[in-house]
Amino acid sequence: MEETQVPRARFPVIDFHTHLSWSARRRQVTEAHNNATPEEVLPIMDRKNVRVMVNLTGGYGRVLEQTIDYWQKPHPERFIVFTEPWFEKITEPGYPQFQADQIARAQALGARGLKLLKTLGLYLREQVTSGPLVKIDDRRFDPMWEAAGAHRMPVAIHTSDPEAFFLPTDRFNERYEELSAHPDWSFYGKDYPSNQELQEARNRVMARHPRTQFVVLHVGDSENLPYVSGLLDRYPNMHVEIGARIGELGRQPRASRKFFDKYQDRVLFGTDAVPRGDDTPQQVFGERLYEIYYRFLETEDEYFDYAPAPKPPQGRWRIYGIGLPEKILRKVYYENAARLLNFKS
Ligand SMILES: [Zn+2]
Repeated sequence: MEETQVPRARFPVIDFHTHLSWSARRRQVTEAHNNATPEEVLPIMDRKNVRVMVNLTGGYGRVLEQTIDYWQKPHPERFIVFTEPWFEKITEPGYPQFQADQIARAQALGARGLKLLKTLGLYLREQVTSGPLVKIDDRRFDPMWEAAGAHRMPVAIHTSDPEAFFLPTDRFNERYEELSAHPDWSFYGKDYPSNQELQEARNRVMARHPRTQFVVLHVGDSENLPYVSGLLDRYPNMHVEIGARIGELGRQPRASRKFFDKYQDRVLFGTDAVPRGDDTPQQVFGERLYEIYYRFLETEDEYFDYAPAPKPPQGRWRIYGIGLPEKILRKVYYENAARLLNFKS
């Protein structure tokens, strides 16, 4: 089989979806946990032609400050940090306005956008960890979405997950190995909403806040491109990002190629990279990860691995490249994200 090596992206890249740090809770305090140092990451970025990495999980409050000081302040041209909602405060009166005010505060500290993990919709409950699940379109978040729009901070939102995560983890599940490795990713049964309900709640948020720009992470529903296409047609403030979903995009290469063509101004490059993220092999930050993404986007190679791992970690299949033309590559790699991040050209 043809193997095209793509050691370096043909054009400069903004990786819109990375996790260089997390908020970690230790000894009753929340503090920033960095998965790598800038000195480790920068040479790899240079070799792979990655101009900018967006660290979505910058946290809030003190952690956000630490994270901006560690990554963005010393290297403002290379690292961008997003903030996250202060979900622990949802039980407090006045939360909606507090959360909206935090957006302005985060921007003043240097944050460039807002990130929502799939926590919203699937983990966050009325008493944070107990009680009924809080819905994505809960009105308490309305001032937050509006504030993000008013401050021109794009919202990167992860909603729901692949269909297999809503099915029993048994021998018929095509992601049996992945769900066995991450039992907490199974949303089968219990009080979990369906994939469709989650997607629709997110859609109502986009409809309600037309001035706010939403980057729907993981392509939204990467297994159902006709559905995602319908949403992009309906919501002009919607964009998609491809991180950790080339496994799905690459097994429907003809549909994907058409999708990239039609929505070339609204698809963003991202990898969901986690330095030392060994428990998610499709996301381990490093040269091999980028080479696979570049091969998928730039070549027409057939049936190759979608992850830098000995076994396909998300499901036992391989992918096909979609050979995008130069004009689309430039947009997907860089221009679409640069516009949303308000880069001066
Ligand atoms: Zn992620």
